[in-house]
Amino acid sequence: MKVFSILIVLCITVSSMWSYPWPIRDFQGPHQINATLGDYRQGITGNPLYPRFHNGVDIQASESTKVYSIVSDTVRYVTDGVRVGDYAYVHLMDRYPEGQYIEGIIDSTAPLDSVGITDNQDHVHFMEGAAGGPYQNSLRNGGLDNYTDNNNPAIIATPQFFPQGEELTSNRNPLHTDTLYGKVDIRVHMRDFANTGQGSGIYTCSYAIADTLDSIYYNSGTTIIFDQVSPPSNGTPVVYVYDTTVTEHANSATFHYWATNRIGNNQVEDRYWNTKQKADSAGIPFPDSVDADSIENDRFPDGYYWVKVMAYDIRDNFAAESVKVHVDNFNPKIKETRPSDWFAFVPTKEKRIWCRFSEAIDTTTLTATNIKIQSLRADSLNYTITNLVYDDSIHKLTLEVDSFRFKDTVQVRLLDGVRATGLWGQLVKSMSGYVQWFVTCAQVGTDGQCAIIAHRVLPDVIMATPDRMQSNCAKMAQFSFHDCIGFFEKAQNPDIFVLA
Ligand SMILES: [Zn+2]
Repeated sequence: MKVFSILIVLCITVSSMWSYPWPIRDFQGPHQINATLGDYRQGITGNPLYPRFHNGVDIQASESTKVYSIVSDTVRYVTDGVRVGDYAYVHLMDRYPEGQYIEGIIDSTAPLDSVGITDNQDHVHFMEGAAGGPYQNSLRNGGLDNYTDNNNPAIIATPQFFPQGEELTSNRNPLHTDTLYGKVDIRVHMRDFANTGQGSGIYTCSYAIADTLDSIYYNSGTTIIFDQVSPPSNGTPVVYVYDTTVTEHANSATFHYWATNRIGNNQVEDRYWNTKQKADSAGIPFPDSVDADSIENDRFPDGYYWVKVMAYDIRDNFAAESVKVHVDNFNPKIKETRPSDWFAFVPTKEKRIWCRFSEAIDTTTLTATNIKIQSLRADSLNYTITNLVYDDSIHKLTLEVDSFRFKDTVQVRLLDGVRATGLWGQLVKSMSGYVQWFVTCAQVGTDGQCAIIAHRVLPDVIMATPDRMQSNCAKMAQFSFHDCIGFFEKAQNPDIFVLA
């Protein structure tokens, strides 16, 4: 077994070192490359629904240039060209007779016969790989001799964002960079300039997500790569790599790539950046398909990020473009309130209630207009908030009144005007259009106690069971059982309290 593995290593080493001559003179090259492997091509006539990947490289050669076989073997005809061994040469005229053996450049000991001459398309479409593919990228180190490329790719426009899944639709509704949410695809308009500055497609791309302090949250690694083109090399796989709804032409060679999708295991995978991806308390990400519940277990908490897209050519020249985005998946919610439970007892003189938000709140929205403490009695008394304190470090809002009335139940409401900091998705919302909880004050004993008998927070409902409610009502000597039940029933039914 050891011998075998050594042999395999040797074979790989030799093949990666091996390079081969160009099929036109000068055989040592390099020659101008007009298009490269994987470039987008529109559907051919009669098959318009099947865009395809360019399955070879285009070597510039003016009409009637002699084209030679690299290896020695029998000539087979392909459309407009010939195949000899694992190489094919397309856009030829005056082809060498089919079925005849021809000597290749690498075996030449005598003047060579050509496999044909170029037609008026002025290039050889050169393919490397067995008939039917996969087709290799002949510009790699170990491919065509002496290929060089010192030109950087170009990212032509700021990357754009689309809801995941739109690649397969004909609609394109980009998400505003201030409102990224859920699973998104990143589309990037890019091109490369091959060895002579001729336009072509990029070789690989990748992207990274960093916060505004430049801490990298996520690095995608290579997503799209054209080291080879494998069947099926037309139809859906192409649509996942290129936005084919954008009018593009081979001669301009600028393409719109879906940088979030991936080529792996010889197929194109539909991927995305899940801006809502869940992470555990230590920040360890769940699978990227798993969504967070709130800003607190979001791998990319609502806020600003830099999205950096990188494009590489096959000689590691690269381009990068960054765009600042605002991720906003969650409305702020109320995590905790005081009173926190319907059976809590607090001193009569306790006039403070508070709540804690899941994220920072815009303090300019914490006003008497937006916050109501209102009695459920017939007079609907609006309590005056005598003191309002917001502690941003723990997102805690404390409200104070002079005193709660005896046996009163009040409804505390945070109206839609209360907003988190940030630009979007910042409303404190609930199913009823506002957040509310209830406080009931009942005097118990001579020194007085304020008891909380019912409590509810929307949309995070905290609901007492009827059993617990009854037993606790019974503890409140001066609070009739009937009143207690009545308040509690009201509190259980948010529809009663919908704002006019
Ligand atoms: Zn071609």
